[in-house]
Amino acid sequence: MTHNLKRILGYLGGFVLFFAPFALFQRAILFFLGRQDIANIHTLCLRIPIEHIISGKFLHMGIVSVISTIILLTVAFFFGPLFCGKLCPVGALPEYLSKLVPNSLKIEWAKYLPMTSLRAGFLLGFLIAPVFGGYLACSYCNYYVFDLFVNYIFWGYTVAFSGSLILTGILWFFIFGIFTKGGRGFCNLFCPVGALQSLLYVIAAKLGLNRELQINCKKCIGCGSCVKVCPMDAVQLMGKAAHISIYRCILCRECVNKCPAGAIFYARKARKTDEK
Ligand code: SF4
Ligand code: SF4
Repeated sequence: MTHNLKRILGYLGGFVLFFAPFALFQRAILFFLGRQDIANIHTLCLRIPIEHIISGKFLHMGIVSVISTIILLTVAFFFGPLFCGKLCPVGALPEYLSKLVPNSLKIEWAKYLPMTSLRAGFLLGFLIAPVFGGYLACSYCNYYVFDLFVNYIFWGYTVAFSGSLILTGILWFFIFGIFTKGGRGFCNLFCPVGALQSLLYVIAAKLGLNRELQINCKKCIGCGSCVKVCPMDAVQLMGKAAHISIYRCILCRECVNKCPAGAIFYARKARKTDEK
C-alpha cells in the first residue's frame, strides 16, 4: 500500500471513529460506561477539557471528553502528535484540497510570521482565558464547522451558522487552509489540540522519552523536497541541509516518503543527526 493511500485511509478512519453518524470511538467508550448519550463530535470534544487544564475544571467536563483527552495527551507525550498526522480529518481536508490550488495563490506564512512562537502564544492564551472568565473552545471550533459541512454534503442536514462559525470556516478552510502552503495554517496557528500535543511531545523528547524525526546531515543533499511537501511548513533548509522543527511536525511522514536520499530517520534525540 502506498504512503498516500495509507494516509488517506487513516483520515477516513478518523472520520468514521470520531464523527457522526458513525462516531465509533465515542460509542465504544459509552458502551463500556453503560451510557446512552448521543455519540457525535461534541460528545468527544477535546478542546473543552484542554481549555480547563489551568482553570482546574478539567475533570468536571464530559466523561467521554475527559477520557479521550487523557488518551490523546498520553499518546502525544510518548509517541508524538499522531492524532494530527494520521487521524484528524479536519486538518487533512484543507491539506489535501490545497494541492488543487496553484502554488502562486498560496501564502507561505512562515516567511512573514514566527509560526512556532505564535502557536505557543495562542495555546497559552487559550489555556489562561478561562481563569479570567473567557471561553474560546466553542467560539471558533473548526471540528464543528467540519461536522456541519460534512453533514450538509452527505445528509442535507443544516443549522444556522453563527457569525463566529462562518469566520472560523473562512479562516480554517480558505485563508489558512487551501490558500496556505501545505493547507494546515489553521492547525499551525489556531488549534489548541495540536499545539498541546506538540508541547508534550517536545517535553518528552527533551527528557529522552520518545523518538523524533531527524535528518542525517551527511546523507541530505539539500534538494528541498521535504520543505516543499511538508504540510505544516515544519522543515527549513539551513545551509545545505534540512532541519525539522519538532514544535510543528505532526509525524505525517510526507517528507520521509519524498526524500530521495533516505536522509530522514526516526530516533531518540540522543542520537546525533550525523551519527547515521
Ligand atoms: S516534517 Fe515531515 S513528518 Fe513532520 S509534518 Fe513535515 S512532512 Fe510531516
Ligand atoms: S528531501 Fe531529503 S535530501 Fe532533500 S533536503 Fe530534505 S532531507 Fe535533504
